[in-house]
Amino acid sequence: MANELRKSGGTFGHRGGPVDVFYLPEGARRHPVVSHGDGVYLWDKDGNRYIDACSGPVTTNIGHGNKRVIDAMSAQARKICFAARQHFENEPNIALAGLVAELAGPGFERAFFVSGGSEATEAAIKLARQYAVARGESSRWKVLGREPGYHGASLGAASVSGDPASEAIFASVMQVMPKVPAPFTYRLPENEDADSYARRCATALEATIVSEGPDSVLAFIMEPIGGLATGALVAPDHYYSAVREICDRHGVLLIYDEVMSGAGRTGAFLAAQHWPDAQPDIVTLAKGIAAGYTPLGMVLASAQMVDTVTQSGGFLHGHTYVANPLSCAVGHAVLSEVIDRNLMANAAAMGTHLRARLAEIQETSRILGDVRGRGLLNAIEIVTDRETKRIPPASLLASSRLTEIGMENGLLLYSRRTANGKYGEWLMVTPPLIVTEQEIDEIAERLARTLQTFEQEIAG
Ligand code: PLP
Repeated sequence: MANELRKSGGTFGHRGGPVDVFYLPEGARRHPVVSHGDGVYLWDKDGNRYIDACSGPVTTNIGHGNKRVIDAMSAQARKICFAARQHFENEPNIALAGLVAELAGPGFERAFFVSGGSEATEAAIKLARQYAVARGESSRWKVLGREPGYHGASLGAASVSGDPASEAIFASVMQVMPKVPAPFTYRLPENEDADSYARRCATALEATIVSEGPDSVLAFIMEPIGGLATGALVAPDHYYSAVREICDRHGVLLIYDEVMSGAGRTGAFLAAQHWPDAQPDIVTLAKGIAAGYTPLGMVLASAQMVDTVTQSGGFLHGHTYVANPLSCAVGHAVLSEVIDRNLMANAAAMGTHLRARLAEIQETSRILGDVRGRGLLNAIEIVTDRETKRIPPASLLASSRLTEIGMENGLLLYSRRTANGKYGEWLMVTPPLIVTEQEIDEIAERLARTLQTFEQEIAG
């Protein structure tokens, strides 16, 4: 068996099916095999080059093959890769926690390191719950989320993610939490503009807290700048302060999921820093924090909140790889690179250039409905017709077909039909934070060609 597998390159099992890609639906086209990467480019085994317009799943923030990170990883690996928290503290954990606290600012003095975004969501919910219990508020347990929203694939995270398609399958094995509408700015209900609709969404949050019973509501979780679920949605400024006020009024903790928006991607370390008067109580981070060099996520909270929990017996949560030295050393090197190369400022400047290029493409494209985002967290919304803003019918497989055409054009794009496309379809345009103006121009040129090909396909 082992010999057969080796002979077949390990790709086909004894029943003839692929053994290594069981996430692909039956009959799906196999992807090319990656060879290597350098900066914003990746190559496959056949020698084709791709420009990374999405940082993978909005992850590879400092691009590929970064020498400083690879050196830090190998230096740490030579010292110690793993030491159990039950036996040892480790220096990379202490250094990374200090650096992150400094970058996040007051209110985020404590960091808890996990292995990804879903784990960060789980840890954030457990921290909020234990804080409430420690303060004598054990009646609070409901964590409200937004629809659509996404906070991870594990069941606790899925229960607060507003994805009806996922709930249809998994509701029976989790406790689905109440949802409030996300404040979309492009496709709006009749007689609403973006401002009035955002006000309505904030009012819906308060109404839901009241109808659920304020004493039962523990927290509200949202992505301050949207990820895939809303396609880089940025709400009007007043929405953020309204949400903060409502949470304060009812003693509800505010959790910002910054798994995609954090680590400098929007031009600030946290997207929350764009609205300094509406700071959350808990923040989650992952993806860009280790930029794909290792699995890493984290939860940030105030010293006051964490001390309350530790004084009441300690944080009842953990995983084997929590705060492991290797991942923390990599995270520290990634963030040092972000700081030393001034990549947050680059994200802000390149984001402006990118959106201008996307707006130019929009002028001549029938199917590019909306361009939105902040810094280098951007999305383009795909419609069948710009005038009517019509959502592409499922039969067109718009976002996956565009991703395929993009790859044929040497362009990597990222998309998912959240909620089976109920709210629309978009592609993330989220290149690494190291991207240059020239590379953005190359992305724009390849993207324009990709959209044109798809537009011709659906017209014909
Ligand atoms: N939260 C947001 C906003 C995300 O975009 C994601 C992943 O895409 C997650 C949480 C889950 O992160 P992970 O896939 O690392 O578990």
